[in-house]
Amino acid sequence: MSCIFCRITAGEASADILYQDDLVTAFRDTNPQAPTHILIVPNEHLASIGDVRPEHDGLLVRIFTVANHLATQEGVAQSGYRLVTNRGAQAGQSVYHLHFHLLGGRRMTWPPG
Ligand code: AMP
Repeated sequence: MSCIFCRITAGEASADILYQDDLVTAFRDTNPQAPTHILIVPNEHLASIGDVRPEHDGLLVRIFTVANHLATQEGVAQSGYRLVTNRGAQAGQSVYHLHFHLLGGRRMTWPPG
């Protein structure tokens, strides 16, 4: 299994895991871009948001509800946070296992870089 996020969700590679259930795993990004920077990933390998199909509706709802839960737990739900996924090289995707970045704890700018 060469995918690093597959290895993390399977417990075969270490990570600072904050949440895990039957569908998703959330862990801290090793190169944080904000005081709170958590990655929320499906346990199933999907390369990017481009692989999402209608049968993944439950998975996507779970990702968003886990994001809400973690934002509250991290104390950024009221101040505001950003939930973002990159798809493809021009968007800056570097790990080809679908993941959502939960970023908070500082003021964000728009448009993103
Ligand atoms: P992206 O560039 O959108 O594909 O985001 C990939 C993210 O994964 C980056 O923010 C990396 O810092 C992060 N990352 C890569 N490897 C690991 C790892 N082993 N544990 C935690 N975060 C990682």
